[in-house]
Amino acid sequence: TKETTKYKRVILKLSGEAIAGKQGFGIHPDTIKEMVEELKDIHDLGVEIAIVVGGGNIWRGTIGEEMGMERAQADYMGMLATVMNALALQDVLENSGVPTRVQTSVEMRQIAEPYIRRRAIRHLEKGRVVIFAGGTGNPYFTTDTTAALRAAEINADVILMAKNNVDGVYDSDPKENKAAVKYDNLTHLDVISKGLKVMDSTASSLSMDNDIPLVVFNLNESGNIRRVILGENIGTTVEA
Ligand code: UDP
Repeated sequence: TKETTKYKRVILKLSGEAIAGKQGFGIHPDTIKEMVEELKDIHDLGVEIAIVVGGGNIWRGTIGEEMGMERAQADYMGMLATVMNALALQDVLENSGVPTRVQTSVEMRQIAEPYIRRRAIRHLEKGRVVIFAGGTGNPYFTTDTTAALRAAEINADVILMAKNNVDGVYDSDPKENKAAVKYDNLTHLDVISKGLKVMDSTASSLSMDNDIPLVVFNLNESGNIRRVILGENIGTTVEA
């Protein structure tokens, strides 16, 4: 008998940071392995998992812009960075026996499938983990926005916003202010009106307009993905 899970279909947003691990940059397969063990666990519970990967561990458009590059061009590089992370993640997942498909928003057919919404849903129904790479495919957007967009498109129950060493949303930066207070529950409107740093504002508005709940939680504590999936309120939940 399977445990009852609170969510059936989830989008996990993994930032580049989560792939870099302690080294803080680039790709760290051992860090990915630890995370994949936890993903395997919820995959075994029958949860349909789609992952949106970031690329900040390799490159960000804003870095290029600061160096004098054209922003759109630098953003294309950022999108390619997310593809590298997606392939690393796919490799580790498949080595652990989890079937996967990578879909890219910008076509590169020799490497991965192009993003096709209905096909992504079919993969999920068949128990494959779908990794969405390339962000939205447009410059000036982020992978947080991609997570909100894909969540709406595939009808995900929730976006799991996995954070590195932060266990939720606070009223001020807990690393700077010892008196910072954590929120257990927030509305999307709270996040936007209080200017809380959960997602960028485009991603927040999209989540609000489409009624997509988020759970912000600490990825670095083992068992947390499972706790969230089983409905334990360990982080901050953001809803309508
Ligand atoms: N990016 C983009 N369009 C998108 C998603 C991402 O241009 O729809 C680029 C952008 O340059 C961004 C980089 O890819 O800086 C990496 O994505 P993101 O910053 O969201 O990664 P994370 O912070 O999650 O590691």
